[in-house]
Amino acid sequence: MPSYSYRCSEGCRFDALYPMAEVPQETDCRVCGARARRSVTAPHLSRTGSSAFQLMDRSARSASEPEVVSSLPSSGAPRQRTTSNPLHAKLPRP
Ligand SMILES: [Zn+2]
Repeated sequence: MPSYSYRCSEGCRFDALYPMAEVPQETDCRVCGARARRSVTAPHLSRTGSSAFQLMDRSARSASEPEVVSSLPSSGAPRQRTTSNPLHAKLPRP
C-alpha cells in the first residue's frame, strides 16, 4: 500500500497509507483534527519494498485472492490410524 501526503488547513503535514483504489481527497488531520487535503505528490512506492509492507500487502490480498495450493501439507505422509481396536475395522466406511 502506498502512502499519500496530506496537508491540513492549519498547516500540518502527515502521510497516510491507503490502497490506490480507495485514496480519499480529504481526510481528518492526524495532528489537529481539521480537514486535510491530499497534496499532489507521487505515491511513495519505494517504501512498499520493505518486508513489513510486503507482509501487509500479502495479508490484505489473501482475503480476495487466496493463493492456490496444489497439494495438502500432509501429502506423502502415511495416514495415521485413529484406533487400534480390530473391531473398528469391520465398521462401514463412508
Ligand atoms: Zn492539522
